[in-house]
Amino acid sequence: KREEVPASVHGINPDLVDRRAVDVVRTLQQAGYEAYIVGGAVRDLLLGLRPKDFDVATNATPEQVKGLFRRAFIIGKRFRIVHVVHGRGREHEVIEVSTFRAYLDNSAAEQVSGNEKTSKHALAGMQHAVDASGRVLRDNVWGPQDEDATRRDFTINAMYYDPETQVVVDYHKGIQDAKKRVLRMIGDPATRYREDPVRIIRAVRFAAKLSGLDFALEPKTAAPLVQSQALLADVPQSRMFDEMLKLLQTGHALATIAQLKKLGLSKGIYPLLDVVVERAGTPLVNAALADTDRRVGEGKPVAPSFLLACVLWQDVKAGWEQRLNQRQHPFPALQESIDEVFDQRIGDVSGRGKLAADMREIWVMQPRFDKRAGSTPYGLVAQARFRAGFDFMRLRADIGEVDEALAEWWQEFQQADDARREDMIDQAR
Ligand code: ATP
Ligand code: MG
Repeated sequence: KREEVPASVHGINPDLVDRRAVDVVRTLQQAGYEAYIVGGAVRDLLLGLRPKDFDVATNATPEQVKGLFRRAFIIGKRFRIVHVVHGRGREHEVIEVSTFRAYLDNSAAEQVSGNEKTSKHALAGMQHAVDASGRVLRDNVWGPQDEDATRRDFTINAMYYDPETQVVVDYHKGIQDAKKRVLRMIGDPATRYREDPVRIIRAVRFAAKLSGLDFALEPKTAAPLVQSQALLADVPQSRMFDEMLKLLQTGHALATIAQLKKLGLSKGIYPLLDVVVERAGTPLVNAALADTDRRVGEGKPVAPSFLLACVLWQDVKAGWEQRLNQRQHPFPALQESIDEVFDQRIGDVSGRGKLAADMREIWVMQPRFDKRAGSTPYGLVAQARFRAGFDFMRLRADIGEVDEALAEWWQEFQQADDARREDMIDQAR
C-alpha cells in the first residue's frame, strides 16, 4: 500500500539534501517524468544523518535520462543506470539515476530461465535472467514504482523522497521501522537471500552501521542468515572482495566484526574476511581497524592496501623470519615471503594489481626505516608511498613492535629542513 508521508510526520531536514540531487530531480520532473531521491539517502535523511551519496529513481528510461543532461553516461550491464556528473576533477560529483524496475518473483524467474514461449514475462526474459539457484543475473526490466520498491532489500532502504513537495513515498512501512529501529527485509528473507546472496553481507553491513543508533535486525530477517551463507560461494570473487572492503572501510569495521560474531557469521563469508575476524583482537589489526573507523568518521580517505597490509603483516613477518633463519639475504627473503602471502591469502583476484603493489611497497619499506645513514633516509621520504609506509611503522610503534624513538625520528625527519636533516643523520649514527 502506497503511503504519502508529509514533512510534518517524517521530519526530514531539507538542508541535508544535496543541491545537485535536487536539480536532477527537478530536471526530470520538468520534463514530465516521475523522479525521487531514493534508497540509502532517504534512510539517512530520515535518521538525521547527512547522506554520503544520493541516488535518484525515475520512470524515465536510461536513454531518456541521458538526453536531459549535458554530462550523463549510461553504465552497467547487469544493472543499467545513468551517471549524471556535476563539476570536474576532484570536486566532481556523480548522481546515480536508475529507472524503476519491475519485481519478478521466483515463478516468473523459472519461466524466464526455462524455455519460455509465450509466458507473460517472455519479453522481460530478454532483460531479466535468473540462474538455476534463483540468482538474478540481469535486472533491466522497467516497471511501476511499487514494484521498484518491492525489489529493494530493507524496508528502510525502499523509500522515495520528493524534495519539491517534501513528501516521502513509503510502500513497506519503512518510516515505522525506522522509528522502531528494526532492519526488516522486504518479502521472505530466505528467498531474498537466494535471489542475491550479497544481501546477506548487506544485512551485516547495515546492522553494523546502524547499531550505534540502536537498530537491530528483525529476528525473521536474521534467522536464515547462517543457513544462507553457503550461497555466497556462487558470487563472483571480485564482487565478494568489494563487498568485504565495504564492510571494513565505511567507518564501522569494529561494529561489523561484533555483528559477524553476534550473528554466527564469523567464518565462511570470505576467506580473507575470516582472517580479519580471527585477528581483530590482535594489537596491530585492532589498531588498524580502529584507525580506519576514526579516519572515515573524520572524512579522511582510507586505502584498502593499508588495512590489508596490517592484517597480513604477521604472515609476512613469519615467512621472512623463517627464510632469514635459513640464511637467505634479507631483501629477497622478504620479497619471497610477500609472494607466498599473496598466493595463500589474496589468490588470483584480477584487477588487484595496484592494491598488491601498494601493499608490497608498505612492507618492503619497513626494514628500510632502520637505516638512518647516508642517503637512504632522503630516498625513502622522497618515495611516492612514503606516507603509507610511515603510517604503518607508526602503528607498529604504537603497539610496541618498533621503538617509539625510531617513529619519532622519522616523524621529525620528514618535516625537517636540509640542515636539520644532516644533523639528525649524524646523531643517529
Ligand atoms: P550506503 O549508505 O552504504 O550507500 P545504500 O542503501 O545507499 O547504502 P547502495 O548499495 O548504495 O546502498 O544501494 C542503493 C539502494 O539500492 C539501496 O538502498 C537499496 O534500496 C537498493 N539495493 C542495493 N543493493 C541491493 C540488493 N542487493 N538487493 C536489493 N536492493 C538493493
Ligand atoms: Mg548508496
